[in-house]
Amino acid sequence: MRITCPYCGNRSLDEFLYHGDAEPQRPDATADNAMDAFVSYAFERTNPPGQHHELWYHEAGCHAWLVVTRHVSTHAISSVDIARDLAKARTPNTAGRA
Ligand SMILES: [Zn+2]
Repeated sequence: MRITCPYCGNRSLDEFLYHGDAEPQRPDATADNAMDAFVSYAFERTNPPGQHHELWYHEAGCHAWLVVTRHVSTHAISSVDIARDLAKARTPNTAGRA
């Protein structure tokens, strides 16, 4: 398997480290149900067939954190995105808040 890093180009899988599912969102530690939310976040994962969003780290390259969209049966990669850009896109704009 090869991964096309947005910064470095098409590289061998040996250059990357897999860091798990990229979908779960870290719960709000100040919420009333924080303990239950963290237990669910840490231990309750699904493993459905099809496309997965996975977190990869380009350790032997540019050290970028990437979200790789990969089909778990065929290993076909449909997209590779910079994790920071995806995180910014899904975080509400807090600019201007006191
Ligand atoms: Zn890279």
